[in-house]
Amino acid sequence: MASTIQALPTEVVYLITAGEVIDSLAAVVRELVENSLDAGATRIVVSLWPQQWRIRVADNGCGMDEADLQQAALAHSTSKIRSSDDLWKIHSLGFRGEALHSLTTLADLEIFSRPETSNVGWRVVYGAGGKPRTFAATAIAPGTVVTVSDLFGNCAARRQGLPTTAQQMRGVQLAIQQIALCHPHVTWQVWQNDRQWFSISPAPTTGQLLPQILPQVRPSDLQEVQLQLPQPQNSTLNLVVGLPDRCHRRRADWVRVAINGRMVKCPELEQTILAAFYKTLPRDRYPVCILKLAISPEQINWNRNPAKSEIYLHKIDYWQEQITQAIDQALRISPANLKESFHTTRVSKLLKVAEAKGGYNLSPQSNQAENSTQPSLKAIAQLSNTYIVVEHPNGMWLVEQHIAHERVLYEQICDNWQLVPIEPALILYQLSSVQVSQLQRIGIDIEPFGEQLWAIRTVPALLQQREDCAEAILELSWGGDLEIAQVAVACRSAIRNGTPMNREEMQTLLEQWQKTRNPRTCPHGRPIYLSLEEPALARFFRRNWVIGKSHGI
Ligand code: ADP
Ligand code: MG
Repeated sequence: MASTIQALPTEVVYLITAGEVIDSLAAVVRELVENSLDAGATRIVVSLWPQQWRIRVADNGCGMDEADLQQAALAHSTSKIRSSDDLWKIHSLGFRGEALHSLTTLADLEIFSRPETSNVGWRVVYGAGGKPRTFAATAIAPGTVVTVSDLFGNCAARRQGLPTTAQQMRGVQLAIQQIALCHPHVTWQVWQNDRQWFSISPAPTTGQLLPQILPQVRPSDLQEVQLQLPQPQNSTLNLVVGLPDRCHRRRADWVRVAINGRMVKCPELEQTILAAFYKTLPRDRYPVCILKLAISPEQINWNRNPAKSEIYLHKIDYWQEQITQAIDQALRISPANLKESFHTTRVSKLLKVAEAKGGYNLSPQSNQAENSTQPSLKAIAQLSNTYIVVEHPNGMWLVEQHIAHERVLYEQICDNWQLVPIEPALILYQLSSVQVSQLQRIGIDIEPFGEQLWAIRTVPALLQQREDCAEAILELSWGGDLEIAQVAVACRSAIRNGTPMNREEMQTLLEQWQKTRNPRTCPHGRPIYLSLEEPALARFFRRNWVIGKSHGI
């Protein structure tokens, strides 16, 4: 059989020169594991012996035959591209043909490998320059086992420059977790010093895998959106969105972007994600959001930095718009989003109803249809003059009337910030110059009206009819930008808790609230509703205890 691994032509080598990227145990793990994934592995076992500077990655991938093994560690040898044209069509994680070769210069490299189709495997020990030093037939299962030992053994300075073993192991764990999130169908086992350290079980989607890695997050805290985009050809956009009323973080450490199977830095897209959660989270809190794009490689420029960890994307505006729309969709209250919580229910009757209505094929067209069919919410009663008890097809909610109304007003104000003239003017006194310029800054018409007096001639439309209008303007004068002023106006104008509401008023509020872009939280980030969904109710009432028909089950 002809060799499939080939040395790259020099001009291609020139194009892709990556600089030195193997600088830590985590980098070795990443390179080896990416090779396993490129080989189609679904089961990967990583073993580490940090004190010995030894790393082993075993996989059940396609393996290498004798000829491949001869070539594998030579400089710039890869089976993944052939010429510079191929560079624009890369679908694999690796393509530089550099990792194994670099490892022969930095460590001892040994590979066991056997292709599925062959009944014999090989053990190869590589020498300097990547030439095989020992080559012997051996009995192993199909797949590949790569062992790197005595890493940086010939370069004491490198070892000294590295952080403590514990920190390096943390780096390895993070690297594996990130890769696992990008490839949720893979089973992972990770060993440290001959003891199992952690494992990751496969899951159908990234969202279903995430709770293994971020245990504070429960599956019901997440909403996944999967979109097939017609442009550019066959792109897919997959989003795992942490619902803002259920989870958020102190740092933006879980705003992640993965493109074609690899976590990357793409600051433009990270900003887009953060912006899409604007005014849905408490102050200084950040969302959980993983964006996975599968797009044709010519859209990506990997040469933003040598480690292939930061990229530029062509047509960035297009992607930003798609992402914003997808997050908006995930945050809305629509039948499709509600249906998510049904995975665990045993109430199959309800499940069927939801399926019939769901149309869960999330192509862009059907999204619109879904958004327009709002689930029917029914105001049942008011509790403590504060909460609206709501019935909906999947269970029941308690909606806090003040913040639900605040959300409605806030979005109206943002869409249409109107200052209206008032007659007579409102007279305020003893304003500081800072307060005056603050009011001017948010667009209010204000002028001196005598000693220590100012006349306010325009006010935000919502405040116009309010008895506490002067107080509200004073509040606005105390600082903050237009956005803060908008939140303050919404908050002041929203119906107070403690106010009795009749059924009709409650129903109107619910319908307005349901149509908002971010119905889950108020602009300060407080959750708006508490849900008691049918699966949780069924669990609480032990409806799975089949006692007898007489119990009405
Ligand atoms: P690259 O991944 O950029 O092609 P590497 O130096 O990492 O370069 O690997 C060289 C070649 O060795 C790969 O192109 C692949 O054909 C082969 N190879 C490496 N690891 C594996 C593996 N685990 N299973 C099958 N083939 C492998
Ligand atoms: Mg590689």
